[in-house]
Amino acid sequence: VAPNARGATVPRVVVLGAGFGGLAVVRGLRRVPVDVLLIDQHNYHLFTPLLYEVASALLNPSEIAHPVRAILRRTPNAEFRLGQVTGVDLAGKAVVVGATRIPFDYLVLAAGSVNNYFDGVSLAERSLALKDLEAALALRNHLLLQFERASATSDPEERKRLLTFAVAGAGPTGIEFAGALSELIGLVLSRDFPRLDLSSVEILLIEASDRILSAFAPGLQRAAMRRIERKGIRILLNAPVRDVGDGVLRLQDGRVIATETVIWTAGVRAAPLAGTLGAPLGRAGRVVVEPTLQVRGHPDAYAIGDVAEIDGYALPLLAPVAIQQGRWAAHNIARQVHGAAAMPFRYRDKGIMATIGRNAAVVQIGPIRVEGFAGWMIWLFVHLLMIVSFRSRLVVLLNWAWDYFLYDRPIRLISRQPR
Ligand SMILES: Cc1cc2nc3c(=O)[nH]c(=O)nc-3n(C[C@H](O)[C@H](O)[C@H](O)COP(=O)(O)OP(=O)(O)OC[C@H]3O[C@@H](n4cnc5c(N)ncnc54)[C@H](O)[C@@H]3O)c2cc1C
Repeated sequence: VAPNARGATVPRVVVLGAGFGGLAVVRGLRRVPVDVLLIDQHNYHLFTPLLYEVASALLNPSEIAHPVRAILRRTPNAEFRLGQVTGVDLAGKAVVVGATRIPFDYLVLAAGSVNNYFDGVSLAERSLALKDLEAALALRNHLLLQFERASATSDPEERKRLLTFAVAGAGPTGIEFAGALSELIGLVLSRDFPRLDLSSVEILLIEASDRILSAFAPGLQRAAMRRIERKGIRILLNAPVRDVGDGVLRLQDGRVIATETVIWTAGVRAAPLAGTLGAPLGRAGRVVVEPTLQVRGHPDAYAIGDVAEIDGYALPLLAPVAIQQGRWAAHNIARQVHGAAAMPFRYRDKGIMATIGRNAAVVQIGPIRVEGFAGWMIWLFVHLLMIVSFRSRLVVLLNWAWDYFLYDRPIRLISRQPR
């Protein structure tokens, strides 16, 4: 136990990751007699639910990413360190950042997840992602560049290839992005490129299983399918991806799609840091934790959110799960600091939702099912409320209104060349 900045000797809690889970831990420990060190490889917290709107040129990065130091301003017992954690030594109670070892009394691993390509090397190397801010910006640049290239070619086959967009994975992220892309093209780029023959445009939503939005009720899945198809998006079910080649996407069933754009939204696995703990790993490399969220055999270490899996109790990979677990880990650490035992976590299901472009969303909250415009209003309201800063909320609302009424997205800038 090291003396803190105020000279008092209190336990040090190291929190790895300033995502939804990590921030909830820090907030939960605000009034607990501990010193908190929050470490992240980025100096911002990212609001992932609206990442697809950055990729589809509707929002600016600053509207969904907020500096961690600004978030921590009113949390006097917490400080932030920018750095990539390369290892965790549970036995020695230290985390490793480059050449530095940082000791802890309590640890919370909240490092999230990364894309899972299921060992598909070509997929990892040649597909575009929608997982972090850099990837979303690279995707935006790439999409806009395809239109510039298509407008400059006189070869119809090449134009078709440039304007074919394959979204792999028909979960909420794939569907939200495909919907936003179809509107970017139909409502905005069609006016920017009046001479470009847009009949060559094709958006494909490619799904390995026999249904879209597998976590939703069948009625909502059907409603979502109808809405997606009405937007001109072609859904391919039972179509697992095999690999991505030079200008082609190959499916397991032998079909070959000529395209320069494959966007992978079909699976995630735990952040690689999970593998450095030496603790048991579950599905997709997640750290197996006790019902109390403690790492097995290490009562002073917790793992939460996308990077963790409670033994025998599969939870969806969602922000509310990470937030509730973050609060609970903080609660349990406070109990331990006061000499009490950690208590088991229970998830309160807040529901799931996905939007399908403007005016439509599917929402499932317990037995309640809403779709269409009413669902969209719920989606708008919930997402606005969840955005971390008041300023971002205002700017997002303004951008949404601008896009909704004027059919315009001012952020369609090609800011750098794609990979
Ligand atoms: C495009 C997209 C859309 C989504 N939409 C929704 C949605 O609409 N609703 C919903 O509930 N959920 C959504 N999710 C899922 C949601 O984002 C995750 O479930 C949630 O972020 C998990 O929180 P977390 O705290 O576990 O991890 P994260 O929020 O991912 O935070 C992990 C943090 O750890 C940091 N980190 C990782 N490794 C290291 C390291 N080695 N060193 C230092 N820092 C590190 C990362 O930089 C990151 O800041 C979406 C996810 C994506 C990608």
